[in-house]
Amino acid sequence: MRYDILVKVSLYLLLSLLCVSAQAADYVNGELFLEVNLASGDHIRFKPVSSSNPSFTVTEESLPVVRDVLGEITVGVVSGNGISYWGILKSAEPWSEQEEGYKREYFAWQDSCLVIKRENLIFEDTSFTAPDAAKSYIKANRIPESKLMNIPLINSTVSIISANGDQLYCETPLKIHTDTPVSLSGSDLAYSGDFIVKCVNGQLVINHFLPLEEYVGGVIQNEIGNNAPLEALKAQAVSARTHAISLLLYNRHKDDGYDLCNSTHCQVYKGKYLLNDAILQAVSETKDQIMTYQGKVIDATYSSCCGGKTDSSQNIWNGLPKPYLMGSVCIPEAGNYDLSLEKQAREWIDSSIGFSGMSSWEQKSLSWRASISRYSLASNLGLGYVNRIVIAKRGYSGRITDMYFLGSGTVHLTSEYKIRQAFGGTKSSFFYITGEYSQDGNGNVTVYPHNTMFLRGRGSGHGVGMCQVGTLRRARMGEDYQKILTLYYPGIDFVSNWKHDAR
Ligand SMILES: [Zn+2]
Ligand SMILES: [Zn+2]
Repeated sequence: MRYDILVKVSLYLLLSLLCVSAQAADYVNGELFLEVNLASGDHIRFKPVSSSNPSFTVTEESLPVVRDVLGEITVGVVSGNGISYWGILKSAEPWSEQEEGYKREYFAWQDSCLVIKRENLIFEDTSFTAPDAAKSYIKANRIPESKLMNIPLINSTVSIISANGDQLYCETPLKIHTDTPVSLSGSDLAYSGDFIVKCVNGQLVINHFLPLEEYVGGVIQNEIGNNAPLEALKAQAVSARTHAISLLLYNRHKDDGYDLCNSTHCQVYKGKYLLNDAILQAVSETKDQIMTYQGKVIDATYSSCCGGKTDSSQNIWNGLPKPYLMGSVCIPEAGNYDLSLEKQAREWIDSSIGFSGMSSWEQKSLSWRASISRYSLASNLGLGYVNRIVIAKRGYSGRITDMYFLGSGTVHLTSEYKIRQAFGGTKSSFFYITGEYSQDGNGNVTVYPHNTMFLRGRGSGHGVGMCQVGTLRRARMGEDYQKILTLYYPGIDFVSNWKHDAR
């Protein structure tokens, strides 16, 4: 069969045979369980992290037979497998068990509850086995690209090879369970419990299937440090949980075979083996709590250190203003400065502040220095040389959000992240370049850079929402987590009765 040419098959026939489903999150006994992606690839090895001999139980979704495998295992896609089709979406109808088709799930916020919606995707009769052919077809027929979808054939065969060479063939999706801590494909992190194996786009996808509360524990230990005071851990638990729910509502991984990825794209998740008692206590004492604003889940974004004041989401990412993300005074002394003005931003950065009990990363996030050569700056911007820099705007937190670089050409950056990258990856864009500057009537600040530029700055990260350094400081002063969170997200409510089983 030639797969590189346009192949027309009747998707109706195909789907009526398969009745495929890309099921991910679920409510189990009233708890929300998530699929968090841990690895993907052609072959994935489950290796015990200690010398113990693990035992795995393997269950296929379509076959209620449990099989046991002893020792290290490698899961692989069986060759010739994993063909997926490219279909053109006709419509999405509500799912009913009687119907056949491609079931897709997504999250929605309805009547102050998180519901899992199921829909049946109906495709046009024409489909393709090669993405290029599909793309030319929709271009020629003026069909919007958003209608083109990859339809994974979920029922793929995978092999499970044990350490002694025994092979087991299974149909996906399948569940692998082990109580022994195992690492996946050489990662140094250990996981145990339930793993879901799927084939998406011809590739294996391995997900951790776990309750939301366990996931929150595995996120916060990475975020705010194991030795943080309890109220700071609780604030981080509520932010991470809220952030997870809002990520689910964005449905960014709807077509990927999982709910959340384990990297910074969603939230970094490192499993349960780095947890301590304080983290478990913080998670259980805030169980199910999330933050809402006027009945809707908030964007509980957070960053390492604001540097004095947090910024508004609109200054940093554009978009519509969010009343609970307008910027707050984190360090009271910073309230005496208008950090959007160059002179006052410099004065605040140069003022001395110190708090007792701060760890070295907190101090380094709060106040920092850096340097970069004029040559490196130009090269980072793709310019031959730079001889004039214009700061056109600083946000409420003092972060530079609009900057021009003039030299062999002109580069205009309007993102704090890109500005940080241009200067070699500074901790934040709240900094100034030491030396002379001039200012015009519109407040534009011009700097003529020396061959080496010395930067002085405050803060680390985008500075929108909860400030982790500020949270730690307030928790040490005895503030409770709800008071802390209300400072960073004014006007919010704490709710815990948002779980809803849609079926
Ligand atoms: Zn993600
Ligand atoms: Zn702060």
